[in-house]
Amino acid sequence: MFCPECRAEYRAGFTRCSDCDVDLVQELSESDTRVRKAKRETPSTIKSTYREARKTAHWWALYKRQTGTWPWSSIAIHLINWVVILFGGGFLIWWTAEHHLSRWQFLGIFLLIGLPYGVAENSARVNDFETGVREI
Ligand SMILES: [Zn+2]
Repeated sequence: MFCPECRAEYRAGFTRCSDCDVDLVQELSESDTRVRKAKRETPSTIKSTYREARKTAHWWALYKRQTGTWPWSSIAIHLINWVVILFGGGFLIWWTAEHHLSRWQFLGIFLLIGLPYGVAENSARVNDFETGVREI
């Protein structure tokens, strides 16, 4: 599902865009897609992270409304994810300072840890999403 206004992609189960307050459409038309691609060339990481977090929270609320229970596995995954990012990031910065590493060494370690974690986190998110849809 997509918002015709801001082109945000929504998870199954949503019918309205929480940001624009308009009905979502099944697919964007070709011209919409072009605009979307153009907009994507100047992405705002903070805004998209915020949007993603809002979408997740809305999805939890929707899940709660439909099933009567909170999607605990999804909530746990997201909480663990943020704890790992905050503590892991903090630890990495402290560790680089402590060992007087150059920024390239820092970048190397960051990618070495961050890439596999990103892949694992992403697949966990997909699994979590698919399970949620089946349970609804
Ligand atoms: Zn929107």
